Amino acid sequence: MISLRGIDRSFGNHQVLHDVSFDVAPGRMTGFVGANGSGKTTTMRIILGVLAPSAGSVEVDGVPMGAGYRSRIGYMPEERGLYPKMSLIDQLVYLGELHGLTAADARRRGTDLLERLGLGERLTDTLEALSLGNQQRAQIAAALVHDPIALILDEPFSGLDPMAVETTLEVLRDVADAGAPVLFSSHQLDLVERLCDDLVIISEGRVRASGSREDIRARHSSPEWTLVTTADTGWVRGVPGVEVVEFDGGHVRFRAASAEQADTVLRQAVERGSVLSFSPLNRPLTEIFAEVVR
Ligand code: ADP
Repeated sequence: MISLRGIDRSFGNHQVLHDVSFDVAPGRMTGFVGANGSGKTTTMRIILGVLAPSAGSVEVDGVPMGAGYRSRIGYMPEERGLYPKMSLIDQLVYLGELHGLTAADARRRGTDLLERLGLGERLTDTLEALSLGNQQRAQIAAALVHDPIALILDEPFSGLDPMAVETTLEVLRDVADAGAPVLFSSHQLDLVERLCDDLVIISEGRVRASGSREDIRARHSSPEWTLVTTADTGWVRGVPGVEVVEFDGGHVRFRAASAEQADTVLRQAVERGSVLSFSPLNRPLTEIFAEVVR
């Protein structure tokens, strides 16, 4: 478990991180979301030891993270750092060797990763010969080639087409399933909502919410239901304990304080017409995000 405890960081007089604390649990994909400039990259650099915090600590299983652990993290920095004129496989072998793999192991792992990421035909191409999306895939392979014990990825999905998002996701999920903590930042809330187990929402350098996706949903939404019926649903507004969020003829979306109250709505709806659908609704992450960063 990687834990951040009370991290502050200032640049000059400008404090950009305020008491940032959260956990990245082994075997889980943790999405780190926030607007541009909210402090995600700074936080990731502090985890990697590229930047020092002004206060607070980064721990692994309760003890300060050491250089040995850090050297085994797979890191994909915001400023992508591969060599434009070197072939893909050569740079992966080089990076693998830097991390202590034999050349043969590095070549095997590098080839396997590039193949899984859809670059199997491009092993000997230079980075600069690739499209931006393919360069991004190569960066992901570079973060993974040394068999990392944890992954810290800054915007790994930006610039990837939907197919590449899926293959990248499978590769990352395998690393998490093998027991590694995986933290990735993203401003694409729809992706985060689908991909991650845990979430950390940051705004202006402060953590506004963190925990499992389900917990955050439960904490930040009162349960909502949708009802679609053949009859007009205007009457739902008059049901005690029910708050109508959206209403359009036979379609209504409402909040109810309890399942019993939602059930009252359903029973009345059945008496008034044919019910076409009735279901609880998960609030989209975009709405929860807007609420917690306000
Ligand atoms: P994000 O990754 O969420 O976009 P960053 O961590 O890059 O956010 O930036 C957070 C804030 O810190 C921004 O206001 C940014 O301008 C500031 N900042 C980041 N790095 C530096 C630096 N080296 N010097 C001064 N200010 C910085």
